[in-house]
Amino acid sequence: TSFGYKEVREEDKSQLVGNVFSSVASNYDLMNDLMSGGLHRLWKDRLVSKLNPFPGMKHLDVAGGTGDVSFRILETINSIKRRATQDVLEDDLQEETRIYVCDINPNMLNVGKKGALERGLGEDKSLVWVEGDAEALSFDNNTMDGYTIAFGIRNVTHIEKVLAEAYSYDYYSFQVIPAVGELVTGDRGSYQYLVESIRRFPPQEKFASMIVEAGFQKVEYENLVGGVVSIHSGLKI
Ligand code: SAM
Repeated sequence: TSFGYKEVREEDKSQLVGNVFSSVASNYDLMNDLMSGGLHRLWKDRLVSKLNPFPGMKHLDVAGGTGDVSFRILETINSIKRRATQDVLEDDLQEETRIYVCDINPNMLNVGKKGALERGLGEDKSLVWVEGDAEALSFDNNTMDGYTIAFGIRNVTHIEKVLAEAYSYDYYSFQVIPAVGELVTGDRGSYQYLVESIRRFPPQEKFASMIVEAGFQKVEYENLVGGVVSIHSGLKI
């Protein structure tokens, strides 16, 4: 292809993705800022505001490596708690919040754990770090209130399997940001792979129909920056 990128056989993709994220892990946050001009921060804010997190929520953030989405969810919940009156605190807010940050790559999880410390969330028991594959998760069915996979769905081998897993774990909602945009990259192989994975990702309508096929209802998507990035969402009712 124009990227000088070889077709990847399915069985090689997980390994390739593993290598890519191990090699980019240490520079990940910087590259994210450079490649999106800092906009990924706003996109993640938007995702979390659509998710509408609540105290006591059980949430699964898949491909969550950096913790970027999970931190925002937890900070939103913590600020709701701070604003709540004592009465509400005693009744509704007793349920423990759990945000599971799940990623296949331990190096990316380490980036997240470091970020948690920097944000003062290192001791927060609500964050649970889990090494796991989006295509074969190991939680009980219907145990989560929400599921997000941000900039991760394009890295998986079988999108259908990931959506089926999302449907079985999620209690009612599902939000995804697949980066479908063309981002500026360096010339190294890892970034070539990332660009290629963006180019190959199905267009919004097609991806929305795959979410419907997985069983979700009220499937919608919102394009950001003219469709460079989009937030897909669906409910399990
Ligand atoms: N969600 C984070 C964010 O938005 O900052 C990280 C996104 S990063 C582009 C993609 C992540 O997906 C990497 O951390 C990678 O290790 C992870 N990943 C790739 N394939 C995966 C899979 N099959 N299961 C779980 N995580 C996976």
